[in-house]
Amino acid sequence: MKAAPDANFATQCIHGGLEPDPQTGAVMTPIYQTSTYAQSAPGEHKGYEYARTGNPTRTALQNNLAALEKGKFGICFSSGLAAMDAILRTLRPGDEVLASDDLYGGSYRLLTAVLGNFGLKSRFVDMRDADRLAELITDETKLLWIETPTNPMLNIVDIEALTALARERNILTCVDNTFASPYLQQPLELGADLVLHSATKYLGGHSDVVMGAVITRDEELAKKIYYLQNAVGAVPGPQDCFLVLRGIKTLHLRVQRACENARRIVEVLQQNDLVANVYYPGLADHPRHDIAKRQMRDFGGMVSFDLKEDTLEAATQVMKNTQYFTLAESLGGVESLIGHPASMTHASIPREQRLSVGLTDSLIRLSVGVEDAEDLVKDLEHALAAAVAVG
Ligand SMILES: *Cc1c(COP(=O)(O)O)cnc(C)c1O
Repeated sequence: MKAAPDANFATQCIHGGLEPDPQTGAVMTPIYQTSTYAQSAPGEHKGYEYARTGNPTRTALQNNLAALEKGKFGICFSSGLAAMDAILRTLRPGDEVLASDDLYGGSYRLLTAVLGNFGLKSRFVDMRDADRLAELITDETKLLWIETPTNPMLNIVDIEALTALARERNILTCVDNTFASPYLQQPLELGADLVLHSATKYLGGHSDVVMGAVITRDEELAKKIYYLQNAVGAVPGPQDCFLVLRGIKTLHLRVQRACENARRIVEVLQQNDLVANVYYPGLADHPRHDIAKRQMRDFGGMVSFDLKEDTLEAATQVMKNTQYFTLAESLGGVESLIGHPASMTHASIPREQRLSVGLTDSLIRLSVGVEDAEDLVKDLEHALAAAVAVG
């Protein structure tokens, strides 16, 4: 049965917004693989007319997502970027978005190279400094786009401080909650108007689907975004909605284990002579550890580190020698992934600019999965040793 609104997170993962199928009693939401729905007379139907507009599998997922983020409305899209595009299309030419300066690359591209051509303005600023941010707001500023923790440096932004500032100035806020997942962080509770997810990552959790979602409590905003979902049509198919619904059933277990594994890996990396810096918000000496502690339940499965031998070649050797950490883009799946931002996700950023934020040539990013922690540790230690043997 549908979870009570005050039920705890684990219960929401499994029951939030969900009921057995009204037609058959099926406990798991069926995949309604249909493009259209029979009407008994013109305009007389059971709430569904055409599958771009609505699909029961999608509705179930949307209700579940709303419950997970303590929102009222969930709206799903065919990718995280399609979801972001829908949010941005609620703005007008001449409006300005203020976004984090270490934004997800695809989000940066959508803001600048795509929507910049339609008169949307964007500026990229250091969101860690709320006072400075207050000075940058103009009459044209309509949306703050916040990402925390950031990629790949795992910086933390104070969501509560920024949403308070934005509310004072009558500006909307959206938090890209992809890295944290709602298990670790619930931005609507911290004052955000909108939450964005790439459901491709932790929500789906099994590296088998691309999807995005927007969650809000604001009925007016929800109406506009539902309208765009149907009018633009970047909707996810029912099979993909089923996969994400199924993934979410274990979200709390997966993320919890990823956090535990990450903690162990951080401990080992810090003691390794070949490692220079370890970036993880759970570390007491992380410059924003206190904020992370306040706004997150735990510190996540993403870890970055660089090498004393700060060369691309040394990093490459590490990545070539792991067995369980697969060299790949993306994150948030049950399997551990390893990546090299300087040559992969952040290759388009000039080297000087990369170095100025600590993104060195040897920086390695881990998405820690839910394998056995000691096997993951052995894997990394072996790969680090192999890199030195060659170097
Ligand atoms: C992956 C990602 C996106 C984009 O999502 P897609 O599903 O790939 O379109 C947006 N924000 C963050 C933080 C991401 O990691």
